[in-house]
Amino acid sequence: MSYKQPDEHGYYGEFGGAFIPEMLYRNVEELRENYLKIIESASFQEEYKLLLSDYAGRPTPLYYAARLSEKYGTNVYLKREDLCHTGAHKVNNTIGQILVAERLGKKRIIAETGAGQHGVATATVCALKGLECIVYMGEKDIERQAPNVARMKMLGASVVPAKSGSKTLKDATNEAIRDWINNPNDTFYIIGSVVGPHPYPDMVARFQSVISKEIRAQLQEKTGTELPTAVLACVGGGSNAAGTFYHFLDEPSVDIIAVEAAGCGIDTHMSAAATQLGKPGVLHGSKSYLMQTADGQVEEPYSISAGLDYPGIGPMHANLFVTGRGQFLNATDKEALQAAFELAKLEGIIPALESAHALAALNKISYTKNDTVVVCLSGRGDKDMDTYMREMQNY
Ligand SMILES: *Cc1c(COP(=O)(O)O)cnc(C)c1O
Repeated sequence: MSYKQPDEHGYYGEFGGAFIPEMLYRNVEELRENYLKIIESASFQEEYKLLLSDYAGRPTPLYYAARLSEKYGTNVYLKREDLCHTGAHKVNNTIGQILVAERLGKKRIIAETGAGQHGVATATVCALKGLECIVYMGEKDIERQAPNVARMKMLGASVVPAKSGSKTLKDATNEAIRDWINNPNDTFYIIGSVVGPHPYPDMVARFQSVISKEIRAQLQEKTGTELPTAVLACVGGGSNAAGTFYHFLDEPSVDIIAVEAAGCGIDTHMSAAATQLGKPGVLHGSKSYLMQTADGQVEEPYSISAGLDYPGIGPMHANLFVTGRGQFLNATDKEALQAAFELAKLEGIIPALESAHALAALNKISYTKNDTVVVCLSGRGDKDMDTYMREMQNY
């Protein structure tokens, strides 16, 4: 059995599937029938690779962090997704999906966004391809994330406020799904993580898998072996983690370590650690681990980092969790802030708050000077400077 890919019905073990309203069946079925044919075609691969290199800036460096390595007594490498165009790994996926949309003849692109990172990455590729772009975003998030709203608008996207519920990501996702139901023929929905109905989790994981493909080649060149001792990544929905783990999942010698956001702490009701606090349930089209109340309503998550503030995780990760293939750790807001200030001072790199959660886990594992630990630095910290300035005197 492979941990990388779902079965033909979209299941990773008991998780995944496509739980969708009848009215979405045609859209999802059209994608399911065509996505592999499209992705595997020579013309797609040629254009995808060219855009990844010349537009997104790949391969991203694998950087040996000497001072961090000294501090933790092991060899720490950082996979520099923060150096991608638009500042995070998300563009790997939106480039892939816009090329699929184009080949399916779609003219109108919709997306949901929380902090605005996926919205910006989607607006970017829509500008690149001259396609109409509508981004749904919670009204509260529009207020909180003004710079990203401005970026999306400058890139030509319409940003539509979601005014229902808590007016955040989950509500924006509901609005995007409603739009898709109403526009079944000309519209493509670009989902931002390894979540949603099959085939989205598999499609997004394939697009992000370029991360671990590059890590293998870069480690071979730098250390003489393709396999590290461990790979670490933060998990919101789980796309940067899926990409970082992908080509190591079926290599039993490699430790797979996922880091969730603990918020104020696991037992404070202010947390987003879905595996620790959740149980199996269905959200946004697939079965996975989900934070929910006793009667099955979705529990509001909390994390200082907007990108990890999601009540579930993708089905691939739920399977890694229950089978024990992956180790699931978590880091609090404070631990992540600590790790962000540490990286800035030791290596001269300001990480995204999300990525800082993965870095914080270096304190929670123990490896030796002969081991190799690769941490995915999923994004850069520019968008988090307000938070960092507020917290500066505490660290
Ligand atoms: C969106 C985001 C994440 C969380 O999303 P995943 O799908 O879990 O990767 C992590 N890091 C950064 C920098 C992000 O922008």
